[in-house]
This record gives sequence, C-alpha cells and structure tokens, in this order.
Amino acid sequence: MNCTSHDLQNLWSRYHSIMLTAHVSPDGDAIGSLLALYHWLKEQGKQVVMVVDDDIDDKFKFLDGAEAIQKPNAVHTDGQWLYVVLDATSADRCGKAADLIQGKVLNIDHHISNEHFADWEFVRPDVAATGEALTALFLEWGVGMTAAMAQALYMAIATDCGFFKFSNTTGHTLRMAANLVDAGAAPNTISEHLEAQSLIKLRALSEVLKHIELFAGNTVAGISFTPEVLKHTGEHTGGYIDYARNVKGVDVAFTVKYISDNETRVSLRSKTVDVNAIAAVFGGGGHVRAAGCTIAEPLSKAKKMLVKEIIRNK
Ligand code: AMP
Ligand code: MN
Ligand code: MN
Repeated sequence: MNCTSHDLQNLWSRYHSIMLTAHVSPDGDAIGSLLALYHWLKEQGKQVVMVVDDDIDDKFKFLDGAEAIQKPNAVHTDGQWLYVVLDATSADRCGKAADLIQGKVLNIDHHISNEHFADWEFVRPDVAATGEALTALFLEWGVGMTAAMAQALYMAIATDCGFFKFSNTTGHTLRMAANLVDAGAAPNTISEHLEAQSLIKLRALSEVLKHIELFAGNTVAGISFTPEVLKHTGEHTGGYIDYARNVKGVDVAFTVKYISDNETRVSLRSKTVDVNAIAAVFGGGGHVRAAGCTIAEPLSKAKKMLVKEIIRNK
C-alpha cells in the first residue's frame, strides 16, 4: 500500500521493535538513510537494529552510529517487529538481511524500478536520494533534527547526486541539503572523509585508469574489475565508474566486476541514455542515469553482452 507522509507518521507508534536494512554493497544513501532513521527512532524510545549483508566501507565509519550496523547472522527478530527496507527496490536486494523478515515491511525508496513488494511503501522516483525523501518527511513531521541525523542525511543526498552535480539535482534537493546544513551537517567534514584517499588507494586508481576501454566511437567507456585488478583495489570499487563517465565525449560508462567464474556485477552511468532500461534487460534496475545488474556469465562474456545492449539502446 502506498503511504502518505501522514500514514507513515502514524505507523511508527504501532511498533516498539524495528529492524532497518538497505541494499547490499551499501552506498552513501543506503548508509546515511539507515543511520538517520536509526538515530530518530532510538530517540523515540524504540528498540532498533540496523542490518546490512555486507562490509561497510571504511570511509563511512566516521558517521555516528555506523559501528552499530550488524551482519544478518548476529540479529534475532520476530513477527512483532516492523521491517524497514531503505533505498532498495525489493527485499532481495538486501541479500541475507531479507531472510530475517518475519512481519510487516515498510519500503522507503526512490528507484524508478521499484518492485512494489512491501506492505507499506513510500517510493519517490522524483527525488535524488532516499535521504532526500526522509529529510522532507522529517521536516513535514516537525522532527527535532539532531546534528548526527543531519550529517547522515546530507551524506545520503550528496553521494547520490554526485555532490549536487548530476541531473537528478533539483531545487528540492538543494533546499533539503540547506535545511540539513542549518541543522548541523558539515559539508566540508563529509567531503573530507569521503574524498580522503590512502596512498594505496591512489596507486590502485592509477592501475584502474590503465584499464579504461572505449567503445562505440569513444562514446562508451568501461572498466573491467578482473581478479587481477581487484587485487589492487579490494572489494569496494564503487567510486571508479565516475572516471569512465568523465572521459570527454563519453555518454555511457560501465564497470564489470568479477564475482565468481559465472557471475559478473555490472554498474552503469549515463548522460543521456536510459541505463535503467539496459539493466532491466539483465534483471536489474535503478535510475534512468545510474543503474546496476548482475549477469550470470563470466566477465568477458558479460562485458560483450552488455556492450551490445548499450549500443542497441543508443
Ligand atoms: P551501483 O552501480 O551499484 O551504484 O547502482 C546504481 C543504482 O542502481 C543504485 O541506485 C542502485 O541501488 C541501483 N541498482 C543497482 N543494482 C540494482 C538491481 N539489481 N536492481 C535494482 N536496482 C539496482
Ligand atoms: Mn543506493
Ligand atoms: Mn539511493
């Protein structure tokens, strides 16, 4: 059922125990949205657990509460709990955290490919981040925003709109961010933490840059994270796609990442092409300008299939 802001405001009072989860490979929006809601619900006296079926990238650990995020096997819940799925199109996108769900589910999300799976949903494809939708809700409810909440929400919004540079940045996005700065978010601190690179990471970047390949008359750029390249980067390969996207003349950027001999993880970004439609061909989704999917093929074959599909959609 689609919820209004008012329905949502009333929903919390029906539950004492609440589990919050978000998608695997959690990005800034997933983590920031989790933490902001966690801080607020704790202040309401609720029992709250945050569960993510993945390691949290070290760069997010400066945020208050990040240390409280747990792995699914450490958590016990029951049918009386409310299960909140943040920044994800389906429960499946939360990996093993989805196996903990035994009761009613609320989904707060902003993906155009949302699968409308939850008992209650607040899905806003018109906003740049789940954190933007949450900020609007908190403002509407007149919630006293703490600095920790503001910091988490600002990080959520900023990371999903490329620090206010991508085409999903609207006046509303900027107004929500301005409200968060007024409530104690520190844009400089957030940028410093997210942009700080160890020398090892910088050297890994130089290795990754060597692997940018161009296709379709230099309008498509891709990076392959083979096991060899992953030795340099480690598992957190999230930010590298922007280097491919920023190559002059490139419209569509992609990364293909080795998961196993028969599984390849794909990320897509674009300036004009609908990459949600391309990801959907392989059972994934996301947004018009940023999407992802997993292809059950070896990396080199997955890459060929993907490039063919990108060219077909251009
Ligand atoms: P990523 O390239 O993993 O950063 O993902 C880009 C966007 O697409 C993010 O908003 C993801 O949440 C979303 N996304 C990635 N993979 C999928 C998928 N399999 N299904 C639905 N949405 C996805
Ligand atoms: Mn996300
Ligand atoms: Mn998001």
